[in-house]
Amino acid sequence: MTKLNDLIAGVIRKEVLAMSAYHVADAEGLIKLDAMENPYEWPEDIKTHWLETLRDCPLNRYPDPGARRLAATIKRLNGLDESVALLLGNGSDEIIQLLLMALPQGSSVLSPEPGFVMYKQLSCCLGLNYIGVPLQSEDFSLDLPAMMAAIEKHRPKLIFLAYPNNPTGNLFDRAAIDAIIEKAPGLVVIDEAYEPFADSSYIEMLERYQNLLVMRTVSKLGLAGLRLGYLFGTPELIGQLDKIRLPYNINVLTQFSAEFALNHKTLFDQQTRLIRSERAFVFAELNAVNGITAYPSMANFILFRAPAGRANAIFANLKHQRILIKNLSPQGGILEDCLRVTIGKPDENAAFLFALNQSLISHL
Ligand SMILES: *Cc1c(COP(=O)(O)O)cnc(C)c1O
Repeated sequence: MTKLNDLIAGVIRKEVLAMSAYHVADAEGLIKLDAMENPYEWPEDIKTHWLETLRDCPLNRYPDPGARRLAATIKRLNGLDESVALLLGNGSDEIIQLLLMALPQGSSVLSPEPGFVMYKQLSCCLGLNYIGVPLQSEDFSLDLPAMMAAIEKHRPKLIFLAYPNNPTGNLFDRAAIDAIIEKAPGLVVIDEAYEPFADSSYIEMLERYQNLLVMRTVSKLGLAGLRLGYLFGTPELIGQLDKIRLPYNINVLTQFSAEFALNHKTLFDQQTRLIRSERAFVFAELNAVNGITAYPSMANFILFRAPAGRANAIFANLKHQRILIKNLSPQGGILEDCLRVTIGKPDENAAFLFALNQSLISHL
C-alpha cells in the first residue's frame, strides 16, 4: 500500500492531490431543487418529433468538428453577424477549463466570491494563481474598490464575472462591470448561464470591448443533460482558443438534439415564464416566513438566510421530508446560515415551502 501511495504521490500533481472531487448529492426519491435544473419535460408530440430527428443521426461517423449547423442556429438566434465568433463546449464547464488551459503558466485568475465554484476548482487544478475578491456582505454586490485594487496588484490574465451570479442570484452593477472590463489587463468572461431568467446581457457590448467574452449554456434553460455551452468573442481570440478544443467535443446526439430544441425555443420561453412567475411567488413566501431572509434573484434559484446556526439542521430536516436543496452554510464567510433553492414546478415549490415551515417549527 505504501508503495502505491508513493507511486501516486510521485505521478500526480500536488494541486490535484490536494483537491477533493466535485460532489453531487444523490437525489434518488427526493424532490430535486438543488441544481438549477428546469423541472419541465417536453410534451409527447415534441418528444416524438425529436426522436424522428435522431433516426437520421449518423452514429457511425465522427460528428462535424465545427458543429456548423448548430453554431449557425445559435448565432442566428442571438442576432450575431460575422464580427463575432463562437466556440462550443461540452457544457460551459469545458469552456472554463479550455480558457484556463490557454493561459501562460503561473497566471492569475480573478473572480468575486462567493461565485461559481468551477472557476476556482479548475484554476487550482491547473496550478494557476486563483484570487477570490469578497462581495459586499449586505447585498452581494461587487466591491469595486477591492476589485480594482486586486486587478492592480495581481494583473489577472482572466476575470470571471457571473451575470447573474451563482449562488447569490443578483446582477452586478453594469457601471462597475464596465469599469472592470476597462481596467482589466487581460480577458473578462461574462458568464451568462442564467440569462434566460434575467433581462440583461453583455452580448451587445462585444462590439465595444475586444477583451470581452460572453459565455452561455443551454443547461439552465432546460437541457442540462445535453452538455452544451458556448462562448462569443472576437474571431481572432476565438480562433486561438479553438486550437486547444478537442475536435469532437460536441457529440452528434447533442448536435442534433440541441439544434432541434433551439428551433423550438418558444417551448423553453413558455417554461422560463412559468419559472419566473414561480420565482416571484417563492420569494414572497420565503420572506413571509419568520426568521428567513430571501435575497432578490434574477436567476432560477433563490438564496436565503436561515436563523443563525440553524441552516444545517434545516437542510437535514428538509431532506428527511424528501426535499433536496443546497446547503451553502458549510462554505462559511458571508454564506454562513445560507441555503439555496432552485425554482421547481408549483407543486414542488409548495412542498418545499410547507417542509421549510415544518422544519422551523420542529426546531423551536
Ligand atoms: C451551472 C453554471 C455553469 C455550468 O454550466 P454547464 O454548461 O452545465 O457546464 C456555468 N456557470 C455558472 C455561473 C453556472 O451556475
